[in-house]
Amino acid sequence: GASLKKVIETKQFNAFITVSKNEAEKQAEASLQRFKSKQSKSDLDGVPIAVKDNFCTKDIKTTCASKMLENFSPPYNATVCQRLLDAGAVLVGKTNLDQFAMGSGTVDSIYGPTKNVWKCKADSNDFHIAGGSSGGSAVAVASGVCFGAIGSDTGGSTRNPASYCGVVGLKPTYGLVSRHGLIPLVNSMDVPGILARNVDDVVSILNAVAGHDKQDSTCLTKPFKKISNYCSRLPPANKMGIKGLKIGIPIEYNCEYLSDEVLDMWDEIAQTLQNEGAIVKEVSMPHTQYSIVCYSVLNQCEVASNMARYDGIEYGYRADDDHSTEKLYAVSRRTAFNDIVKNRILTGNYFLLGRNYEKYFNQALKVRRLIMNDFDNVWEDAQLLLTPTTLTEAPLYSDFIQKTNRDQCAFQDFCTQPANMAGIPAVSVPIKLSKNGLPLSLQIMGRNLSEPMLLALAKYIE
Ligand code: GLN
Repeated sequence: GASLKKVIETKQFNAFITVSKNEAEKQAEASLQRFKSKQSKSDLDGVPIAVKDNFCTKDIKTTCASKMLENFSPPYNATVCQRLLDAGAVLVGKTNLDQFAMGSGTVDSIYGPTKNVWKCKADSNDFHIAGGSSGGSAVAVASGVCFGAIGSDTGGSTRNPASYCGVVGLKPTYGLVSRHGLIPLVNSMDVPGILARNVDDVVSILNAVAGHDKQDSTCLTKPFKKISNYCSRLPPANKMGIKGLKIGIPIEYNCEYLSDEVLDMWDEIAQTLQNEGAIVKEVSMPHTQYSIVCYSVLNQCEVASNMARYDGIEYGYRADDDHSTEKLYAVSRRTAFNDIVKNRILTGNYFLLGRNYEKYFNQALKVRRLIMNDFDNVWEDAQLLLTPTTLTEAPLYSDFIQKTNRDQCAFQDFCTQPANMAGIPAVSVPIKLSKNGLPLSLQIMGRNLSEPMLLALAKYIE
């Protein structure tokens, strides 16, 4: 009850698209009864959690922040949502995002932008962006109204807003958490992400949602072993030795637009880890710089194909134009998608033309392989990698939307995107406040399924 009230009261940040008041109240009441009869289901029983509005929720609107799905209520729950409900969690609502998760700011939603909670003045027109595309989920956590939130991460959409909002954001290993019911962006890179105030809370949520799901054929079949909150591979953080842990600093992440403040913080933490016994050394991952352009080709090709399902016939927005079926498709799609979605569909179809396929799509797949090889090679020298998450603190909304290229993946996703190419786990951890009083974060990456070790180091530095 208190949490729902807070959700409603914190409307000024525009973190939620839908507050599922009735359902949440019922779930909370059931949880209370279980508690009274000492039958709580898990450590998440009764705990308020928010879900990004690109995860299907049974009979609750799932809009992707787009006019196309403005009135769409799915007939089933995404696996992630179902597992949270099974653990007793209370799903308080659906959070704001960039339309169809395309973006890095949570500024391109038909419901308006989400505001960062940090230094936010309720009466001001300008504010710091929340980052994106899971900005609503990050703000639901940072504002204190939810214990945790589910986001999605294709190129950084969980870690980027986590970094700007000062919360922990985990992109799990590809296939560790089911994508069933997550509306796809790039099928081969999408993963549900987890946002919470600290690493232990992330672990609790991961333990509830991870593991094989027969409804997602790309989900790993290996049984998932729950991670102990005092992460198993390293001793508890309070008396931890990180002695001998090999941490790589990939020099290519020191890129053109990295702010001095982030660079200094990165240096400082690397130095501290070294002083405390880790073996910290520079490593090279020469194909990092190609990740963004390679991603944009693969993303646009997959978007072109994934968006074909929205034709205004079976579900989604239907235009009021019945001159011909063709016309109905065209007008529905033209009216209901924003320019970013339309641009990606057009470019993707261009890349996929018979005469271009080899030159763009196949070429991008080869570059992806080189980026993955960089990771395979680096694990010979390092167990974990330490990098920035975002290049700066959260930009001001007025600056962010003025950039001539609104589709700013190149700048925003530089450090986060490579992990999606390789499918590996990565976590963003808040470190300190900038001179302006905004959160600054670092990212840790590890090899596939190294979550226990990754999260142990995250806990050590948080
Ligand atoms: N910014 C990237 C994009 O717009 C990544 C978004 C995401 O991870 N969902 O595609």
